[in-house]
Amino acid sequence: MPSAEAGGLPMPVVWSEDCLLHEPGGEVWLGVREAGTEVPERATAILRALRDAGAPVLPARRHEMTDLHSVHHPDLVAHLATIWADWEAGGYVSVYRRDRVVPYVFPTAAMLAGLPARPPAATHGRVGLYCYDTMTLVGPGTWEAIRAAADAALTAAGLIAAGRNASYALCRPPGHHAGPAGYGGSCYLNNAALAAQALRQAGAGRVAVVDIDAHHGNGTQAIFYARPDVYYGSVHVDPGAGWFPHYMGFADERGSGPGSGANRNLPVAPGTGDDRWLAAVQQLCQDVRQHGAEAIVLSLGTDAAAADPESPLRVTAAGYRAAGELIGRLGPVTAVQEGGYHLPSLGEYVLATLAGVQSGQAAAGR
Ligand SMILES: [Zn+2]
Repeated sequence: MPSAEAGGLPMPVVWSEDCLLHEPGGEVWLGVREAGTEVPERATAILRALRDAGAPVLPARRHEMTDLHSVHHPDLVAHLATIWADWEAGGYVSVYRRDRVVPYVFPTAAMLAGLPARPPAATHGRVGLYCYDTMTLVGPGTWEAIRAAADAALTAAGLIAAGRNASYALCRPPGHHAGPAGYGGSCYLNNAALAAQALRQAGAGRVAVVDIDAHHGNGTQAIFYARPDVYYGSVHVDPGAGWFPHYMGFADERGSGPGSGANRNLPVAPGTGDDRWLAAVQQLCQDVRQHGAEAIVLSLGTDAAAADPESPLRVTAAGYRAAGELIGRLGPVTAVQEGGYHLPSLGEYVLATLAGVQSGQAAAGR
């Protein structure tokens, strides 16, 4: 088996071809539909790079619908599973010429003014109950891909529960912006949170999610915010500097109730490069040690890359490799793909991070 040091990657890569079925058909940003960057080619670019490095590719195992309820409200799962069929049956495609599901009214606190959000009768009224932005479109193959991505994350977590040191789930669509009962930010179900919860259920007393995507994982934070058993730590571009998700991801969000102290946000300024970014990763690793996590889920977004079109961070592939090494020293790691949109360098960045995880684990004697 090739070693990471020799340029090979023995880490199992969990994958399902169904992840390619999601064709968002762009995104509506500031009222205008434009070509999005969360495209199927992202997954094929990563897969090619990992295959070329000798990584064994394992099929994602199908899980039960009820497994998705471990971190999500059943109503959200049911909505995602049925909305496309309802949209088509309602004539939104054939009569109204709307080829993707996009919300247009949102039951925000400002609208409801204290009254409950009643289940809307109209399909087009229902979408905004679950989807919190206009950038996260649903089309014909979206549900199949959502489910395949969740299956990949759960399968990869299962490998760790069965005694492997490291695994990687090539999830598409990504997941860390999806919360307990809502979706957005090109994410639908939270693959990393599903993996973390599966590790808890498999017997890990404490689990940590370390999120190095360029954006704050507001969904993962929301899912575990009040829980002491799952730490969430994230380094991301400062929402206070005007970046998505705008409303969450600030340093003073430290968890609530029994989860107080088990949430850490380290926002960094636009333009941040390796040194300051890695110092933040190091701080997260120190937290994980203190928390006593027995397994780590790495939310691996490579959109902090200098060339990535979706963020203003300037991290190099060597920086991602160094982050992987730091995280690999902590314990068994399931890496779950989040963002990363620069197709020419995406595979190189993912490979660098996973090779780093393996070399960190080797250095720690794992
Ligand atoms: Zn991102």
